[in-house]
Amino acid sequence: MTATPEEALEQAALAGIHCFAIPTPFAVGRVNCYLIEDEPLTLVDTGPNSGKALDELTARLGERGHSIDDLELIVVTHQHIDHLGLVEILVEHSGAEVAALGAAAERLASFEEDAERDDAFAVEVMLRNGIAEDVTTALRSVSRSFRSWGSHVTVTRPLDDGGALELGDRRLEVLHRPGHSPSDTVFWDAERRILLAADHLLPRISSNPLITRPLDGSAKRTQALATYIESLRKTREMPAEIVLPGHGEPITDHVELIDSRLAGHDRRKEKIYRLIAERPRNAYELAQALWGNVAVTQAFLTLSEVIGHADLLVNEGRVREADDGAVIRYETSG
Ligand SMILES: [Zn+2]
Repeated sequence: MTATPEEALEQAALAGIHCFAIPTPFAVGRVNCYLIEDEPLTLVDTGPNSGKALDELTARLGERGHSIDDLELIVVTHQHIDHLGLVEILVEHSGAEVAALGAAAERLASFEEDAERDDAFAVEVMLRNGIAEDVTTALRSVSRSFRSWGSHVTVTRPLDDGGALELGDRRLEVLHRPGHSPSDTVFWDAERRILLAADHLLPRISSNPLITRPLDGSAKRTQALATYIESLRKTREMPAEIVLPGHGEPITDHVELIDSRLAGHDRRKEKIYRLIAERPRNAYELAQALWGNVAVTQAFLTLSEVIGHADLLVNEGRVREADDGAVIRYETSG
């Protein structure tokens, strides 16, 4: 029998894991932070850097009989600002240690500069894929305006992929699952069969594998979707009973959910293939054909979707990139 999401939350609470849904200013809505009542007292993700998020986090901790000062360990699941914006403030109050994937530590430490480089990279990707320059300028200023919700993070306990986070009462295996972001890390309690998955797997929306620079900060873009699918396949093989996501309710049927996500990506890939087979198009033209005007307002998101699926077609040898030096077009390689 599969548990309902409510039952899963209860089961997690019995295991000392409490879900706090903290408000964010972003379209995704609230972000889930998880308090683990163990030694040390641990918070997985913090919510964004805002007074509202801090107030709610303080209130939720208070309901469990804790204050912010009591936090001893903060775990950061990945580099997105809705998950880590409050880290610095919480550390100032509590002196908590901060654990995150060691390979991401350098980028987390230089958040502001890194965000600038991410934005410059995004502009470059957009221009190379057919987005007009004025659109990229507008999107860059939107991104800048969001930046104050983030924070730099000083990692004091760097974690290794395949290593473990030992708490008094449990052992959490640390597994790098890149794709949604290059630093996505999930935490696996094999004994209780509970997976803290953050944005690697979400119940209601697919996890937007955004095109990014790789974790080492180099300028070459990752194949975010291909990487993500590989990560999803690994998670599919895990005997998880409860998956605790970064947004929305717990997942109790992760195999079914992952299968439907994989099928969805396959359908989208074939749709994009048919559009390319009609005539060669750049990624922006493909995004327009699929989503109309959303391709402008959400240019980077929709481009990431198109390029991610086109990467799969390129990897399969069905499509190739034709580069005239200015804009990349996709054409069939038949
Ligand atoms: Zn995220």
